[in-house]
Order: sequence, then C-alpha cells, then structure tokens
Amino acid sequence: MKDYKGISGAPCLTHGCSRCCHNTEMMLTREDVERIESLGYRDFYYESDGFLYLKNKNGKCVFLGEDGKCKIYEARPYGCRFYPYIYDYKRDQILLDDDCPYANEFSLQKPQALKNLVFMILKEREERIKRRMKNIKIELS
Ligand code: SF4
Repeated sequence: MKDYKGISGAPCLTHGCSRCCHNTEMMLTREDVERIESLGYRDFYYESDGFLYLKNKNGKCVFLGEDGKCKIYEARPYGCRFYPYIYDYKRDQILLDDDCPYANEFSLQKPQALKNLVFMILKEREERIKRRMKNIKIELS
C-alpha cells in the first residue's frame, strides 16, 4: 500500500468526530476498490460521471460503524486519509473542506502526494470515459 498518510494530527479522534463519513462524496481509485474488495467487501461504490465514489447507506458511509468508527480504517480509501483536504472537481482545486468543523487543526504534510492522488483519480476517469466512448453504439436508422 502506498504511503498516503498525508495529514498530521488526528483531530477527528480527539473530538470523536466522524462528520466526513456522513453523506460522504469520497472519490476512490481502482487501487482503493481492489484493496477493499480483497477484504471481502462488495457493492460499496458506484460510478458517476466517470468517477468512482463510496456509497452511503442511511446517510452514512457504508463503512461507518454504529460506534462511529471506520470498519476498514487500516484499508480506508486514500482520499479519507487526506480529508479534510479534498479535490473539488467543479472548481478544479484542492481545498480544505469547510464542512469539517476542525479543519484548521490539520496540516498537510505531503502536498505532492495529494496532487499525485488527484492526478491518478483524473487519469483513471479519463481512461473510463475513453473506454465508454469506444463502446458507444450508433444506430441511426
Ligand atoms: S471509508 Fe472509513 S474513513 Fe472513509 S468515509 Fe467511510 S467510514 Fe469514513
């Protein structure tokens, strides 16, 4: 597994906060999917506009336990490791998510690692879209 421990401190643990795991819009890489599938999980993501996202159930990430802890913490998606730093696709920008109440307590230690992750997510999306375009059936008559 790549070293994507990109943030210092653990304000979420200190504050017992799991807000980011509610109504999550976390993007996944192929590697995230394969790592989580290797634990035996299925049906935990969906594709939208070429991106892969974690699914929610009853307003919470499918992996958030009743105790407020992540069930796959050691294998959690790379994006979760960087939260509250997120990639905003619409603005094409990496930013600190203002939904996180403790955002200012984090500091990004490896900005390049986060950029590499965003690059990988965008590259995978491009490949997915190209594959889809190749498979478009045209029936004009
Ligand atoms: S995978 Fe874990 S850390 Fe990531 S959103 Fe789900 S519960 Fe939270």
